[in-house]
Amino acid sequence: MSIDEAEWQLGVCNACRYCEGICAVFPAIERSPDFGPVEVAYLANLCHDCRACLDACMYSPPHEFGVDIPDLLTRARQDSYEHYIPPPRFVLPIWLPEWARLLAVFLFTGGLIAVVSAITLGLRAFVPHTHAAASPYIVVPYAALVVLGLAPGLWTIWVMARAALRYWRDIAGPLPRLRDMNAVIRAFREGATLKYMRGGGGGCTVSEEDDPSPWRRRAHFLASYGFFACLLSTISAAVLQDIAGERPPYSLLSVPVVLGLAGGIGMVLGSTGLIAIRHRGARKAADAPDALATYAFPLALDALSVTGILTLALRNTPAFGIVLIVHLATVLTCISFAPYSKFVHFVYRLLSLTKDALETSQP
Ligand code: SF4
Ligand code: SF4
Repeated sequence: MSIDEAEWQLGVCNACRYCEGICAVFPAIERSPDFGPVEVAYLANLCHDCRACLDACMYSPPHEFGVDIPDLLTRARQDSYEHYIPPPRFVLPIWLPEWARLLAVFLFTGGLIAVVSAITLGLRAFVPHTHAAASPYIVVPYAALVVLGLAPGLWTIWVMARAALRYWRDIAGPLPRLRDMNAVIRAFREGATLKYMRGGGGGCTVSEEDDPSPWRRRAHFLASYGFFACLLSTISAAVLQDIAGERPPYSLLSVPVVLGLAGGIGMVLGSTGLIAIRHRGARKAADAPDALATYAFPLALDALSVTGILTLALRNTPAFGIVLIVHLATVLTCISFAPYSKFVHFVYRLLSLTKDALETSQP
């Protein structure tokens, strides 16, 4: 996306102002009509791609002005992800296609877990014969699991935290501005309720043929809250084990299993719904050159949840060992790629909503 193109389209919006009531982007354009790369990145991450403004726009293609704000901001958002966290240029050659690098990391982590299991527990780890629900530790020792999970986890948190800090400094200045709890709480509320996916009121406009509908927002809710339920499931399992002294496996009605199963089902429904909606509305920007880049994030959520549900369903069968290793390799691959994927969008979006709250709540 060129900055000239952004300046032109956003300049038309600033003169027109027809959409100023739809979302936070248009009032932000009016407050700061100086469209450099940082301002465009901020507007792009404030946008929720509901496409209501394209539906409403009298200057959209085929009009000669060619204004298409959702398309412009989608491309600018992608540029901002790569600006704040450049694609990794080590270990795996950058010229490899995205799918090949994902597959390589998946095979490597799966192989590593299998080797660790074979060395520490012997070949019986792969086919744990049990008629009761099995503990993951009969396949991978607890200490190995902690090391294998913590290393990419801490790396991912570090990369994302560094990018968030740089992004905030660029768009809003000094870090202490984040001390305004009213603004932070408002941003979390708007982010958690997906306020700006309501579009003009009816929801997102998925394609030119469809009326606005709430289904994209609902699918996003299912996927994101499903993910948080799975995260809580892992945390509750750690609390049960390390504080209450209760080792896995946990019963079907225990907190970790109920949260994990509910979250997994929510993620499958939500991310599959997002894939279907994205496919239906595919056009220019969403029609990214690399199909995997377009669908990678919801596909990763699908893979995480399906392998997790299978691990639970098969935990008292001989297939448990292999399925658990596949699930763990999927989890580690997703953690390793998270900073370089659309997963980071929630960080920039919350910071953009916080800046918006700071600017609009000032007297
Ligand atoms: S998107 Fe179109 S209608 Fe809306 S403010 Fe911009 S130019 Fe005006
Ligand atoms: S949030 Fe919706 S209405 Fe606002 S700029 Fe983005 S696509 Fe347009």
